[in-house]
Amino acid sequence: MYQVVIAAGAAPLLSFDELLAADANPAGTGWSRPNLVWLQGASCSGCSTSFLNIEQITILDFLTYFTRLIYHPNLSSATGNQVPQILHKLAASNKPYIMVMEGAIPVKMPHACMMADRPISEWVSLLAAKASVCIAAGTCAASGGVAKMAGTLTGAESLDDFLKQRGIKTPSVNLPACPMHPEHMVYTLLHFIKSKSLPELDGARRPRQFFSHSVHDRCPRYAAFQARDFARCIGEEGCLLELGCQGPVTYNDCIAIGYSGNTNNCVRAGHPCIGCAGELFPRPLLYHSHDDPRPVTGVILKKS
Ligand code: SF4
Ligand code: SF4
Repeated sequence: MYQVVIAAGAAPLLSFDELLAADANPAGTGWSRPNLVWLQGASCSGCSTSFLNIEQITILDFLTYFTRLIYHPNLSSATGNQVPQILHKLAASNKPYIMVMEGAIPVKMPHACMMADRPISEWVSLLAAKASVCIAAGTCAASGGVAKMAGTLTGAESLDDFLKQRGIKTPSVNLPACPMHPEHMVYTLLHFIKSKSLPELDGARRPRQFFSHSVHDRCPRYAAFQARDFARCIGEEGCLLELGCQGPVTYNDCIAIGYSGNTNNCVRAGHPCIGCAGELFPRPLLYHSHDDPRPVTGVILKKS
């Protein structure tokens, strides 16, 4: 079995290139391809689609060189009765595996999310308990997301809440954002595969290197914010705060690494951050409420 070490303190940061190097072994521990199983709960499959868009390596090379993909609902050719057979075999095998959870777990509406005639909650209980590590892919798995927003009836739980309430002590990692950034997932998997440890995590079990800065901290419109030069409508130059930007209260490195080869990101494209990586996403009103009690440094928000 893998022994999971949670990196803490001043652990050296391993670069993506170091982890990708085919034979390199940054921690000097040797590595082998782990089994990987990917489950989907209440989700739109957007995080799987995002995962396929990893740019540092082709997804096929990543999955075949660095992992043994046991099952993925969208990628595997297994269907029907083959699926429960594969999953039961894995759970009974005593072989180590990594479990990725995409989407929330609808515990009060089990029939909302079934796999092979069993609620997804039963599969998560079975497979998470024996996994070496569980990774929550995207905001729905990390904090409930769309399935848990006000007014829904599913009783959706995040992966962490689900594990905690059932006494499952498998280490977990949260990779919020809607969708999850592919670099976050591939880096975290590679880190675990190559060094047998998780990257350093914050109190919300997110890798610090991705989530320690707010969108606001690195925003290309920050100079406009300091000058109190606020846009009045979408498309205008200026800081988007008064259009409801949630950059000051949302932690994610999307501004630094962007999307699609860093060709763009929300704020650069002219749209306020809607807080997709935040624990309260999605709010009934997606934009920052002027009644939000959390402080926005240096700005007194006007009542709308
Ligand atoms: S409020 Fe939004 S647009 Fe303005 S500087 Fe902060 S992140 Fe950028
Ligand atoms: S700017 Fe905000 S909404 Fe856009 S990806 Fe980043 S955290 Fe999500």
